[in-house]
Amino acid sequence: MKKIIIAIDGFSSCGKSTMAKDLAREIGYIYIDSGAMYRAVTLYSLENGIFKDKEIDTKRLQKEIKEIHISFLINQETGCPETYLNGNNVENKIRSMEVSSHVSPISTLDFVRKAMVAQQQAMGKAKGIVMDGRDIGTTVFPNAELKIFVTASPEIRAQRRYEELHTKGQKVSYDEILENVKQRDDIDQRRSISPLVQAEDALLLDNSHMTISQQKEWLMQQVNHITK
Ligand code: C5P
Repeated sequence: MKKIIIAIDGFSSCGKSTMAKDLAREIGYIYIDSGAMYRAVTLYSLENGIFKDKEIDTKRLQKEIKEIHISFLINQETGCPETYLNGNNVENKIRSMEVSSHVSPISTLDFVRKAMVAQQQAMGKAKGIVMDGRDIGTTVFPNAELKIFVTASPEIRAQRRYEELHTKGQKVSYDEILENVKQRDDIDQRRSISPLVQAEDALLLDNSHMTISQQKEWLMQQVNHITK
């Protein structure tokens, strides 16, 4: 089977990561969650006083971006990749509402995107990779052999995120999550650099009313079609 690059883009909380992770495991590819990288930069900024009182000290962040090292290591117990920031496991911290509500302004910064895109492109050099995000099919890997653009209604996405956070013991209201989902959609679509947009050659997947197994079947059909 020839190795390809699979780019999965789409709106926040539409199950991209779960789907991409599962697909990568199934076909023996590396999975990279590009959103986790923007979340890690956000966590760094919050923890180091670079992002406070709704203000980002862009000069400091620009100076320190070279010192922000993000990597992914497989958790041997779960078999899932986890995010490390300068050697520390931050997988749980980067999923908090605190990070979710600060990540979009950080990811609009030109120098942050340049640094992340360069790292992402290096990770995809050998192909055999599934990467999910917002600009993977348009900016990071415009020549990816398979591009999927995922969407679902904001209400369904908020409900899924609500269930995920509650399973992890984080008490957040549905309304707060829905507001955050809509806000992030808006910022992601309106930003001038690498806005969230469906690549011309991407396949559209609206999974609002699909089960996980229906989605997987659809996805495997697309992969088999291209790699056969
Ligand atoms: O995918 P996830 O929701 O974890 O991503 C968090 C945030 O990171 C998004 O809301 C978006 O602002 C940003 N992001 C991005 N480009 C990517 C991936 C994520 O701007 N490729």
